[in-house]
Amino acid sequence: MSPNILTIENLTVSFDGFKALNQLNFSMDAGELRVIIGPNGAGKTTFLDVITGKVQPTAGRVMFKGRNLRSISEHQIARLGIGRKFQTPRVYLNLTVRENLELSCNRNKNVLSTLWVSTPASERKTVVQLLETIGLVTKADVKAGFLSHGEKQWLEIGMLVAQSPDLLLVDEPVAGLTDEETALTGNLLLSLAESHSIVVIEHDMEFVRQIARKVTVLHEGSVLCEGSIEEVQNDPRVIEVYLGKPATEGEAV
Ligand code: ADP
Ligand code: MG
Repeated sequence: MSPNILTIENLTVSFDGFKALNQLNFSMDAGELRVIIGPNGAGKTTFLDVITGKVQPTAGRVMFKGRNLRSISEHQIARLGIGRKFQTPRVYLNLTVRENLELSCNRNKNVLSTLWVSTPASERKTVVQLLETIGLVTKADVKAGFLSHGEKQWLEIGMLVAQSPDLLLVDEPVAGLTDEETALTGNLLLSLAESHSIVVIEHDMEFVRQIARKVTVLHEGSVLCEGSIEEVQNDPRVIEVYLGKPATEGEAV
């Protein structure tokens, strides 16, 4: 088996001849928290779309835990252990925080049985642990529709974690959040990183500095460079693609 949780080889995705991803190579170790940055249109969302099976590669391949994901459906890929957090939270607004988590803990259960059938003790413990992890213990019995945008994001992250994915993909988790919510989201991802492999796509550079260990910069569908946040911020190529001109001293992304 591959030591990498995710390996991407020469991946190209064309939309009517336009290469959203172009001969992209990428790999990450199990247990890594990797941040992906890049200007608008760099291919970041398409990159997640290919990993989750929403979009098929035109060329190249995606290997997850040593297994080629070609021709595996989106649903099956999720069951193999890849969980994706979309930008807009997908939670049941009319259910409480606890009920949302209970639903995710038991995929065979539907909305109605979550409301009417009592929950086994073993599962309740997991829900309590999840509530603690996402910082919503005091909001457990509040309907999700009454949560702030940040709290909804944390709930959705909790719902993903409830399904025990090996790899978590998170697309712009702090867009539209307050500074305080942003910092708390960073802490949440750092604590989840202790037991999960995580890919985070993000624009907010302050947030990236809070959480980043290794950063991958995408540009025009390929990896431009990789390294620590300091390394990529000082890389003249990165400065150029963000600022559109050669670097002058002291300039940062
Ligand atoms: P990012 O998330 O980095 O902003 P995207 O992956 O959304 O970039 O898009 C990369 C490029 O591919 C953009 O130029 C975008 O317009 C194009 N693109 C994305 N999805 C499609 C699609 N379904 N059809 C045509 N072009 C697309
Ligand atoms: Mg995007």
